Amino acid sequence: IEIVGAPIFNERNMLKGAVLVFYDITHLKKLELMRKDFVANVSHELKTPITSIKGFTETLLDGALDDTDTLQNFLTIINDESTRLQGLIEDLLTLSKLEKDEYQLVKNDVNLNILIGEIMPIVNQAAEEKNITLSIDTVDNIEFLAESEGVKQVIINLLMNAISYTPEHGKVALYAEETDDCVHIKVTDTGIGIHKDAIPRIFERFYRVDKARSRNTGGTGLGLSILKHIVEVHDGKISVESELDKGSTFHVYLPK
Ligand code: ADP
Repeated sequence: IEIVGAPIFNERNMLKGAVLVFYDITHLKKLELMRKDFVANVSHELKTPITSIKGFTETLLDGALDDTDTLQNFLTIINDESTRLQGLIEDLLTLSKLEKDEYQLVKNDVNLNILIGEIMPIVNQAAEEKNITLSIDTVDNIEFLAESEGVKQVIINLLMNAISYTPEHGKVALYAEETDDCVHIKVTDTGIGIHKDAIPRIFERFYRVDKARSRNTGGTGLGLSILKHIVEVHDGKISVESELDKGSTFHVYLPK
């Protein structure tokens, strides 16, 4: 709480009282903390791959260039770390665009089945690599007005997360149905699940239940917060139900 005060004097300049104003700055302080946290997180996330790129480059320049195996190995790491940086920067730009109040949605006619057809080749490959059974169950011809690229990103990310956080031979399923006024998209997996204490936090920027694991799968911890923004600029809702070691189900509701 911040207090601002001023004395009140009468006509003879004698102290009559005082005015005290109490400002509740909890919200402001929280915003300020979140901003500082965000900057610290971004700096850390940028620093990690850069440190590694610099380390491997310097070792190569110091003479390791002559050994082809080492060269191949180090360049692969440098390439992977650069890809990671690129992904992180793209995610940050998307996030900052979506967080602007004046963000303008460009809506077009979306046919959900056609859109899913475009997504499948990307997702199928990831599922096959882990022997995960991927099933799609949608009602035909769901059509609605939305930003198709945004909807695509939501479905791809939810499916890719489901695949990442599900052990080999598990199951991932995508369902879609419509009501009079909304489209309901559901992604279910038989994966590791999310602890109940972590559920309220997973849509926060940079939050990951297990940092090391998420980094190994290439995650930045920004995916779900971007999805939440995309869904919310459409006036929709995103939620999750999950049970540890059983699996998770993400629900997305988009108004038609
Ligand atoms: P990341 O890039 O780390 O995957 P996200 O924002 O997409 O970041 O997800 C945040 C965190 O939520 C993940 O690090 C993971 O801990 C958890 N999570 C997301 N999807 C799932 C899922 N399907 N099953 C279990 N945990 C998940």
